[in-house]
Amino acid sequence: MSSDGPTLNDDSFASAKTGGTHGHGHTHRHGGGPAHSHPLTAGQEAHVRGRRWAEHDRDPDLLHEHDHPHEHDDAHEEVRGGHDFALPTLPDAVDVFDTTLRDGSQQEGLSLTVDDKLRVAEQLDHLGVTFIEGGWPGANPKDAEFFARAPKELDLSRATLVAFGSTRRAGVRAEDDETLRHLVEAQTEAVCIVAKSSEMHVVDALRTTLDEAVAMVADSVAFLRANDLRVFLDAEHFFDGFRANAAFTLRILQAAEEAGAETLVLCDTNGGTLPYDVERIVTTVLDRFETQVGVHFHNDSGCAVANSLAGVSVGATHVQGCVNGYGERAGNADLAAVVPDLSLKLKVTTIPADRLALLTPVAHHISELVNIAPNPQQPFVGASVFAHKAGLHTSAIARRSDAYEHISPGLVGNGTRFVVSEMAGRSTLAMKAEELGLDLDSAAMTSVLDSLKRLEYEGYHFEVADGSLELLLRDSTGWRQSFFELESYRVIADQGEDLSTEATVKLTVDGERVVATAEGNGPVNALDGALRAAIGGSYPALEGVHLVDYRVRVLDSAKGTGSVTRVLIDSTDGDRTWTTIGVSENIIAASWQALSDSVVYGLLHATPGRA
Ligand SMILES: [Zn+2]
Repeated sequence: MSSDGPTLNDDSFASAKTGGTHGHGHTHRHGGGPAHSHPLTAGQEAHVRGRRWAEHDRDPDLLHEHDHPHEHDDAHEEVRGGHDFALPTLPDAVDVFDTTLRDGSQQEGLSLTVDDKLRVAEQLDHLGVTFIEGGWPGANPKDAEFFARAPKELDLSRATLVAFGSTRRAGVRAEDDETLRHLVEAQTEAVCIVAKSSEMHVVDALRTTLDEAVAMVADSVAFLRANDLRVFLDAEHFFDGFRANAAFTLRILQAAEEAGAETLVLCDTNGGTLPYDVERIVTTVLDRFETQVGVHFHNDSGCAVANSLAGVSVGATHVQGCVNGYGERAGNADLAAVVPDLSLKLKVTTIPADRLALLTPVAHHISELVNIAPNPQQPFVGASVFAHKAGLHTSAIARRSDAYEHISPGLVGNGTRFVVSEMAGRSTLAMKAEELGLDLDSAAMTSVLDSLKRLEYEGYHFEVADGSLELLLRDSTGWRQSFFELESYRVIADQGEDLSTEATVKLTVDGERVVATAEGNGPVNALDGALRAAIGGSYPALEGVHLVDYRVRVLDSAKGTGSVTRVLIDSTDGDRTWTTIGVSENIIAASWQALSDSVVYGLLHATPGRA
């Protein structure tokens, strides 16, 4: 790969070159251009401050090797807390733009109803993002319904809803273009329109001329501005396009700037760009344009978060992505990592500081809404990312909490966990008990250690079943769950016209004997239904507890059907997620055990005082 600058012999470059030079003639967004009626976002303010500094400092000439910012002496060259190197181009604040409801929904297997979309938007607003991209009105009935219902049903406290669309089609007047009409009809304050900014895509995909592609941008932005909309230009395939024909990609941006776009969003649509190239290319754009610059990265090279940080580090003040990194192929930049990296490490304002601790619960809530199990290893918010296993490591962390944690987990609403297995020593177990607020005396400790060793030998795996482990520890203190007392359960699978499964549970709750029956699509589902039918009336909190995953593993498969089955159930109440375990030669018995632990754990934490 060549790291040479863009090719500049293209004639069209001359026109692209005027943007960003000192005293250029055209009007622009900040500093003399037509004022927008809305207040500036934090990222835009940072952008304006950045421009004032940049205008007298940056060399606009692309032919020159870009001056490294470190070489300039400037008032901005303060070392910020959190990192010990100077980044003079780092902005004070960025706008956070979440596209879960548009780009994120492109993920294979991710499908949201309109209700789901409204609830995801509420969570994003709760977290405090600046912009929520809601979808593509006119592209499908679902998104049209979303934008119709949003004004009535969404009470956004902080975020601005954005509708997505594209520029006018080739050869059609903006006034006559259906996509643009849908955007205006969506009645959002802001819109984001995609424009092809790579020569190859214009020629091969759109099959039109470069001049027409530029005109499509100019006309569409002007049309939307004339309809009083704030316009973000989403420059598709920007980085690939820039490498192939920089002059053309810059003409696209210039057309958008001149027509009044508020933000130029540089997209790495194929996700193949690496951070060093991001720094180089984003810097080039910032040198040449007055308008706010944003970045949008896909994760195909595993660099979406790093690329977002690279873009911001050289001065981009608008960053797009999805909480949890949803999206087609390898996904979009994970905002659950971008936001804390910027806020905590680089001290760049993203979401309001007091909402950072909502990151983990919101990320988990959204994964529940989109019905995709959270990744335990997801940086910052994953269930395992502040978990410490037995041994040296655990005793070290007991002495110094920062010994093996890159941040204090509470900052992002996560928590330290001590993972306990049969390898655990007394000190690990003591820490786990302390974490749970349990007081285990020496005799209880010995009994738990003995039980752990025996149960793990039988096939239990408490390292992955925090819920069942907590119940085991509580048992050792003499605690017994008092939510219900099981008498018996029964499951019948009936192969009639369809295969149906029916479960009956007999138990005592609140001193009363209850018999409840439910059907399900399988034994666990049927047992869950019967248990809920039996005790749900006594415990309304159970409605908020859901099973999210069920895994079965046959241990010692050499024995065939005589082998032992291990069942793991993941559950959530929207805030916390827990795993429970059952082991038996009988899959129904193993399932019941994991299920009943799951419900007991959920009720225990939903009803303080029962612990
Ligand atoms: Zn994208």
